[in-house]
Amino acid sequence: MYRFIVFILSLMLFAGCDQTPTGRDQLALMPDTMMADFGRQTFLQMQQQTPVSDDEAANQEVQCVATQILAHLANRFPGNALPQRWEIVVFADPSPNAFALPGGKIGVNEGLLAVAASDDQLAAVIGHEVGHVLARHSNERLTQQLGIRTVLFLVGMFSEGDADSERIIQALGMGAQLGIALPFSRAHEEEADLMGLELMASAGFDPRESVQLWKNMAATGSGQLPEFLSTHPNPGSRIGALEEKMQVALPLYQKATPAECEPQ
Ligand SMILES: [Zn+2]
Repeated sequence: MYRFIVFILSLMLFAGCDQTPTGRDQLALMPDTMMADFGRQTFLQMQQQTPVSDDEAANQEVQCVATQILAHLANRFPGNALPQRWEIVVFADPSPNAFALPGGKIGVNEGLLAVAASDDQLAAVIGHEVGHVLARHSNERLTQQLGIRTVLFLVGMFSEGDADSERIIQALGMGAQLGIALPFSRAHEEEADLMGLELMASAGFDPRESVQLWKNMAATGSGQLPEFLSTHPNPGSRIGALEEKMQVALPLYQKATPAECEPQ
C-alpha cells in the first residue's frame, strides 16, 4: 500500500508538469500504453462495424497526404512521444467525417473526400486528427470523465501487473468504446485545428485551404455532425482562429517543398 501511495504522489507531481505541444497545461494521467490498447480495440470494433473502403484512388490520396504530414511531425513538434505506428484507414461511409484514437489510429470516411475538395483540404483534416493524438486529448478527456481517484486506482492495478487493459475495460463495465470515440471539447478542437495548420504547412500543403475546408463543411448542412465540427456551434470562430494563426503557418508553407499527391 505504501508503495502505491508513493507512486500516486509522484504521478501527481509529474502530472502537474504536463503540457500539450502548444504549451497548454494538461492533466492526462492514464498510462499511454493503456490508452493505445483502448484505441486499438475500438479501431478493430469500428472496422467490424463499417467496411473499409476499396476505392483505390481514395486510399491512395489519404495515405499519400497522411505520409507527408507524419514525416514532418517530429520536426514540427519535437520532444513529444509518438505512437509506435500510425494506422490510417479509409472507411466506406458516405458521411463527411474523420476521427482519431489514441495509439495513432485515424479513420477517414469516403464521404469526407467529397467535401475536402483538394489534397490541401484533406491535409487540414488529417493534420487536425494527428493533432488530437499528439496532444493526448483522449487521455485528458478520460482522466476528466473517470475522476482522478478512479484513474489512479486503475493506474495502480495496471502498473502492478494486476490487470491488463482488457480486464480493466470489463471491470469498468463500459465496453471497449470507453468514451474515447466521443466528440472532443471545444478547447481540444481548437488546439487540434492549430496544430493541424502548422503540420500541414510544414508538410508543404497550403494552410489557407483549411479555411476553405471549414466553409465547405459548413455548407454541406448534412444533419450529420462530423467529429471535427461537433463541438463548434460557430464555424466563424473556428475560421477566425485559423486566420489569426495564418501568419505563423504561411512562412512555414513558403519554406516547405510543395507536397505532391497527384492521382496515378
Ligand atoms: Zn477534432
